[in-house]
Amino acid sequence: MSRTPSTPAPARAPFGVAPRGAFSALASALLPLAIAAAPPPAAAADTLVTYPNIYFDLYAPTTAETDEAASHVRQAQRGFGATVGERTPRITVVAFASDSVRRRHDLERLRRRGFPLVVWTSPPGELARRTPAALTALALRENLASLAHDIGHAFLEAYADRRLRELGLSGGPTPPAPPPGAHRDHAALPDWFEEGFAALCEFPQVQQARLRAMRQTLDRRLPFTRLFAMSRPADPAAAALFANQSYALLHMVTKVETGATVNEIAIALLRGRPVGEALTNARHLLSKPEALEAQWVEWMTANVPAPAAAPAAKGARGAPGR
Ligand SMILES: [Zn+2]
Repeated sequence: MSRTPSTPAPARAPFGVAPRGAFSALASALLPLAIAAAPPPAAAADTLVTYPNIYFDLYAPTTAETDEAASHVRQAQRGFGATVGERTPRITVVAFASDSVRRRHDLERLRRRGFPLVVWTSPPGELARRTPAALTALALRENLASLAHDIGHAFLEAYADRRLRELGLSGGPTPPAPPPGAHRDHAALPDWFEEGFAALCEFPQVQQARLRAMRQTLDRRLPFTRLFAMSRPADPAAAALFANQSYALLHMVTKVETGATVNEIAIALLRGRPVGEALTNARHLLSKPEALEAQWVEWMTANVPAPAAAPAAKGARGAPGR
């Protein structure tokens, strides 16, 4: 009954990609995905905008969201580069407006390209609303990861897989993206290191908030022997403490030693060795977990401002708002 042949979006529709204006020729050259597909006209919600450049592939529902997502990619690239002193691998980031839109896209084709893949689902406008300031509150209250955090995980996974190959060890490669709703997880790395490293790729405002929150909850810290062995907690508040402490430890490592020490810790962990093994030759840090913990508490106390003393209680005690 329509004038055109029936062309409903197939169940596994190829991407409808709308390259941004002036870059469309470049986009076509860089994005075989877009030209190979030659997709039928897709429903508007299925059309994704690209952000053509030579360092990453990015698809999002709107131009504003590609710009926002690109800022997260760049932040994660900066954090990774500053930590391990290497350029990040090429990465593919896809942001969908909803799970239903996500299900209509064939991610297999992106997986087959072999680059780390980060898939992000958020309602329209949500990505743009996740300013660093908003993320700060979310990270602390609900431990909601930012896109930069997820990309940091993906960079770490690619790095770990490459290191495993170089070391002649098995363990990789990891799947290029976790199932919807699942946290990224590399089988050969402990959760604390993954969380701390991903946070090294976050926006500085979020990192500062993590440090301040950790300083405030220093007496509720997880003993390092436990931190190094445990899985990331399911409870949001516990997960936030776990991530804050993991980040604060790696942050201290980069300040007291250098990013090279983070590298050495990663390699020790990938070899299945304890953290301390990487620190036995460190110039300043102690290697035994208990000693390192005491050193970290002292460093946090000396280097992260204590929270301002709360005004005289007016009855709201015990309602920290997170
Ligand atoms: Zn994480």
